[in-house]
Amino acid sequence: EPGKRAFVIGHPIAHSRSPKIHGHWLAAHGIAGSYEAIDVAPADLSAFLAGLRGNGFSGGNVTLPHKEAVFAGAGRRDEAAELIGAVNTLWFEDGLLTGGNTDAYGFAANLDEYAPGWTGNGAAVVLGAGGAARAVIHALKTRGANNIRIANRTLARAEELRDRFGAGVTAHPLEAVPELLGDAGLLVNTTSVGMAGKGKEELPADPALLPAHAVVTDIVYVPLETPLLAAARACGLKTVDGLGMLLHQAVPGFERWFGVRPRVTPELRALVVADLGAAA
Ligand code: NDP
Repeated sequence: EPGKRAFVIGHPIAHSRSPKIHGHWLAAHGIAGSYEAIDVAPADLSAFLAGLRGNGFSGGNVTLPHKEAVFAGAGRRDEAAELIGAVNTLWFEDGLLTGGNTDAYGFAANLDEYAPGWTGNGAAVVLGAGGAARAVIHALKTRGANNIRIANRTLARAEELRDRFGAGVTAHPLEAVPELLGDAGLLVNTTSVGMAGKGKEELPADPALLPAHAVVTDIVYVPLETPLLAAARACGLKTVDGLGMLLHQAVPGFERWFGVRPRVTPELRALVVADLGAAA
């Protein structure tokens, strides 16, 4: 029997760390399968999806710019994808191409690992209102957070998410962040500010305004310690970097395609950290 095939599609795709992660797990479990990075241009997306079965694929990952288009094209979607409005994982279920979103799972699992008790810590302040913010807010709601403050440069986008996620969510301009931190237990950066190559822009979020028990996390992972995390650490606050979210979000897909639930180990993390270093 030929090994199972899985993929990650994007455009471009060369920067994706997913082949490293899944390749490590395939080897660690001795599975005769493959995980291939495939550059699919938007114009070729529907033909690619239509050919999945014929090409022997069990499923795969979806990254930029296809997450919304695949959401529209999947025959069936899981609850997280439905609420987030984007698909990052595909598999077949009852013969139907099914789209899921594992980013919310990955976010929660990363905090569970490094900051157990992160829920029930008080108000959560989420910086940003893009695709990643939706996954973070879905994770927070799933874990029972009932005081989620979204702050975004473009207020209308924060208001859109507030309306989408309903009770317990409020929307604020970025300038209001200093007033939102005093009683917050969790601060999450989901904006691209702090990312390598993005210049010297800064967020109006001073971790010194947070209570001493607060946890600060960034979903940007290049660099691993963003300026926000460095400032939080300097204040003595607990910090969690964004790499664990990337590693954990890969777990459910691998299990669906290859039938084994893989683990996020220090060895895997070190492998991807080395890879990021090589690319930086
Ligand atoms: P989007 O483009 O959908 O959203 C970007 C967000 O950043 C918006 O809220 C935008 O505000 C804000 N922003 C951008 N530049 C600035 C600035 N100069 N000042 C203030 N706000 C700014 O991106 P995504 O949500 O898809 O991704 C965001 C980041 O998260 C990326 O760096 C991505 O790599 C990372 N990510 C990490 C994951 C992980 O597994 N760790 C998973 C997914 C994403 P506005 O609305 O005003 O434009």
